[in-house]
Amino acid sequence: MRIPFNKPFLTGNETQYIEQAVTSGKISGNGDFTKKCHHYFESRYGFKKCLLTTSCTDALEMAAILIDIEPDDEVIIPSYTFVSSANAFVLRGAKIVFADSGGNSPNIDPGQLENLITPKTKAIVVVHYAGVACAMDEIMEITNRHSLFVIEDAAQAIDSFYKGKPLGGIGHFGTFSFHETKNIISGEGGMLVVNDERFIPRAEIIWEKGTNRSSFFRGEIEKYSWVDIGSSFLPSEVIAAFLYAQLENLERIQEVRKRIWDTYWTSFAGLQTKKKIELPDLPSYATNNAHMFYLVCSNKEQRDGLIATLKEKSILSVFHYLSLHKSPFYSDKHDGRNLENCDRFANCLIRLPFFYSLTTKEHVEVIETCKSYFNS
Ligand SMILES: *Cc1c(COP(=O)(O)O)cnc(C)c1O
Repeated sequence: MRIPFNKPFLTGNETQYIEQAVTSGKISGNGDFTKKCHHYFESRYGFKKCLLTTSCTDALEMAAILIDIEPDDEVIIPSYTFVSSANAFVLRGAKIVFADSGGNSPNIDPGQLENLITPKTKAIVVVHYAGVACAMDEIMEITNRHSLFVIEDAAQAIDSFYKGKPLGGIGHFGTFSFHETKNIISGEGGMLVVNDERFIPRAEIIWEKGTNRSSFFRGEIEKYSWVDIGSSFLPSEVIAAFLYAQLENLERIQEVRKRIWDTYWTSFAGLQTKKKIELPDLPSYATNNAHMFYLVCSNKEQRDGLIATLKEKSILSVFHYLSLHKSPFYSDKHDGRNLENCDRFANCLIRLPFFYSLTTKEHVEVIETCKSYFNS
């Protein structure tokens, strides 16, 4: 495609930092660059404990182990999300109770939560879709009352806030992604944020294959042993070095992305007024971190037609997510409830090309192609 959907952006220091990691002689995990990344997040956002992982998927799997998910536990998860939000809990035997999105936003509808909670419910995963915060006060009030764990899937939500609080820092755990399609990238990569201090010691053990190696390296114990279950969740220094180069440029990256986002928004405002499309919902409690730009069309035919029209001009736009409750893997395990908002977003939402190096010329072409499609 002439105008791709995504192009990974390199700040310029990635290869230099990787070389530094390589020549330092320590390229396995938890070295200097990993510590620099942890420190960056802990100091910038006030997160209590950060642990880099090889993906957001891995961070979610760590969270599932940390809250001791067992067969028959129920976990409430929006159906409109990436597979990993649910798969991490299914791996440990949980039953997933899928929740619908709200009417105006793909985010989970807090109004339904109370009805989905049973004595078996152990946790809820909220997904801050497009980096826009879920209604966290309502969600925390309900989950606290029922003593449930809250995991924020903040894969798309770096540097975004709810009433001034950084996303990923509100629930018991937050999980981030640095996959090449996200704002800040390391190819594949992720991070677990532990907000509830009780879980910090065990999180370090699970991170290091079930051993207490982290305490050993800090000189707290004389030898390290196998003390719990775990896996190889920590990334190598090569990945952390790449990530650190990105983090150092976070503000510049965010500024450019927000400018691109704002141009899309103002260009399409007229179409929304004419009720041809819906633009992303931005509640007053949420910030916009310009993770993606999406439109919601009136129906599937109109959405698919726009994708085809863009494709004719060699512009790649994409749709997602297919409702997880209807997926080949889960449909026969779902309890049969109709999740109509989720299905509407699955059928009508389109994501437009969005990346740092999108040129003005390309941007105008995407916008004009969309506008003439809706106005013809
Ligand atoms: C990208 C994404 C993930 C997966 O992230 P990986 O780092 O690729 O594992 C999970 N959840 C959501 C909402 C995502 O957007």
